[in-house]
Amino acid sequence: MNIARYQIKGNVFFGVVDNDIVKQIKGSPFDRITFTSEETPLSKVKILSPFVPSKILAIALNVKTHLHDRNAPTKPEPFYKVPSSVIGPGETIILPREAGRVEEEAELVAVIGKKCSKVSKINAMDYVLGYTCGNDVSCRDWQKGDIQWWRAKSSDTFGPIGPYIVTDIDPSNLNIVARVNGIVGQRCNTSELLFDLPTMISFISQVVTLERGDMIFTGTSGAPAQIRDGDFVEVEIEKIGLLSNPVKIEK
Ligand code: MG
Repeated sequence: MNIARYQIKGNVFFGVVDNDIVKQIKGSPFDRITFTSEETPLSKVKILSPFVPSKILAIALNVKTHLHDRNAPTKPEPFYKVPSSVIGPGETIILPREAGRVEEEAELVAVIGKKCSKVSKINAMDYVLGYTCGNDVSCRDWQKGDIQWWRAKSSDTFGPIGPYIVTDIDPSNLNIVARVNGIVGQRCNTSELLFDLPTMISFISQVVTLERGDMIFTGTSGAPAQIRDGDFVEVEIEKIGLLSNPVKIEK
């Protein structure tokens, strides 16, 4: 099932996308899904970020090819991205004027479906609603020069996600590709993640309660590409879809 958040005539709804038709959901996709009678062609709606979570955690250094000369961590290393960094498909990534080098990071994103605290690895996946594509946009100069990653990872527009929350798929063996202006950069498979999703969710939930809609960016691979004014960046994940965003420098 492809769960979308969309706007039509100024109103925002959740829906399920099926054969280029959006079927409107009654209420929230986190409860048992039931539908209204409204069905709209996909071309007539604006697709928004699939949700604006209460928090986003992202895992650092979680793919061997991205470690370069760094040691592999011995436990998951989450950091926060703030919800105000979230944008949806097609929205513009704005590069702050002073930011210097900014890169894309193509990542699988897990969306929590039920509130969870202190879950075991064995039960962790029961709390996941589905998956979407994410771009953990990162300013390398600020990442290196600041003590905290607050702006390196969470400047406005640095959290593109979408297009949909896709349910009922196995997240452990999905190909991920990043393209800038159509040129393929990163290529990865989620089987390369050093800590898998059950480990991440269990680890985080021991001390931080995850709420429905919260998101976990699972980590990026290889050498992410720089993004510049006028670029067009895409994250594509097998069985999930394509997240595309133009890039502009701040005016
Ligand atoms: Mg990342």
